[in-house]
Amino acid sequence: MPPFDNSDTTERYRRMLAAGIGAVKAGDVDTARPLLLKAAQLHPTDATPWLWLSATTQDPAKQHEYLENAFAADPNNSAVRRGLALLSRKMAGETVLDEGSGIAPAKDAPPQEAEALQVFLCPRCGGTQVFNPASQDLLCAHCGTHTAIEGHPAADQAEQVMDFVLPTERGHRWAEAQTILRCERCGAETIFPTGSTAETCPYCGAHQWLATDETRAMLDPHVIIPFQMEEAEARRAIGEWLAQGWTTPDDITHLARTLDLRPAYYPFWTFDGTLEMQWSCEVNIGNNKAPVWVPRSGVVHELFDDLLIPGLKDFPRKVLERIAPFDLKAVLAFQPAYLAGWPALTYNIALSDASLSARRQVTRLVRRTLEPRLNITQDKRNLRTGGITWSDMTFKYLLLPLWSGTFRYRGKSYSVWVNGQTGKVGGQRPRDRLKVAAWVGIILLSLALIALLAFTLTR
Ligand SMILES: [Zn+2]
Ligand SMILES: [Zn+2]
Repeated sequence: MPPFDNSDTTERYRRMLAAGIGAVKAGDVDTARPLLLKAAQLHPTDATPWLWLSATTQDPAKQHEYLENAFAADPNNSAVRRGLALLSRKMAGETVLDEGSGIAPAKDAPPQEAEALQVFLCPRCGGTQVFNPASQDLLCAHCGTHTAIEGHPAADQAEQVMDFVLPTERGHRWAEAQTILRCERCGAETIFPTGSTAETCPYCGAHQWLATDETRAMLDPHVIIPFQMEEAEARRAIGEWLAQGWTTPDDITHLARTLDLRPAYYPFWTFDGTLEMQWSCEVNIGNNKAPVWVPRSGVVHELFDDLLIPGLKDFPRKVLERIAPFDLKAVLAFQPAYLAGWPALTYNIALSDASLSARRQVTRLVRRTLEPRLNITQDKRNLRTGGITWSDMTFKYLLLPLWSGTFRYRGKSYSVWVNGQTGKVGGQRPRDRLKVAAWVGIILLSLALIALLAFTLTR
């Protein structure tokens, strides 16, 4: 093994490591692995390549092996020690708990036993209580008694530190103890806590359920935006939205009253962090006639906050764009009482995958806006981006309130969504063919008139 002060080796090591890390981030673990192994060989006292190798596999035994190698390379590296400790406990079948400095669960998370047995019963008559959007507390449907929920604004403690050793995801506690049903049609899984009945899939409206006996490790939600409106208000919002628009048929406002409307909490991941991206280029400090090209380089930073990634596969991105924004500063620390009587869909996009899409989104944004960020007034050429560093990555598992509905108009099916926090409506609106034709006609006629006018005037 050549000594590490050899500058050629240093350079090769850096290149291999950067390429390997890039491939991991892009989700291409097969490309990443040989690069990282090579990097580890070139610099035997650095734990970094081994740490990244542990992120290239889901197999705990393999992860353990990589982390052992990381430990051998650098026994003082705290990330390695934490990763190993968490992984050993996970492999021993115990719940992964916080390490203080590492992945910290919310301080007010209730103990496991109490949570699993919690039933929301009226203290006065023993009837079932459900969460009431108008009063933001639990309401007994039988005697009308209100019971307060001690809501906490989600402090920073709800933010989970995102280590790149992703297998250290915090284990399940509350979520797994609930009744979870899978929709036979769309595959979405829904938590039905005590006090609600499983009628239709909140996501697609199907009636067929499959019980899921498979237990999979599932995170508890960290934060939630509780529903702010009842069904009647959501319908009213849809009615107003349907009535808008120049090409809307006149006979559709009644649809809001008859459409099939379903509430549910939808799973989202949010990410915070900082991206540092290196860049280099050549700048002309001479002039056009006698150019003098000098190299320039530097680092751009992007701080991102509450970057929202859907936790459901096939969740239509357009829907999110249309009903956005949510006031994410109003999130509360999750408590099961908010779900009393309201179904919640569970995530089927893993944290690691969501984190990759978040990183991809931020990287794309920075690349796209790189030139204006550099603020170089002279001519430049050969602009390149290089190494990327992520720091302070934290994530939250967030539940957002949505109403979704479907209605039929003249034999066609339409879907509509309502933001359960703000009442903003998004979806497809039927169009009146006659009105569309009339507008097209008017526009064409105006264009023809303008053309005719221009023609006469220029003659
Ligand atoms: Zn009661
Ligand atoms: Zn479904």
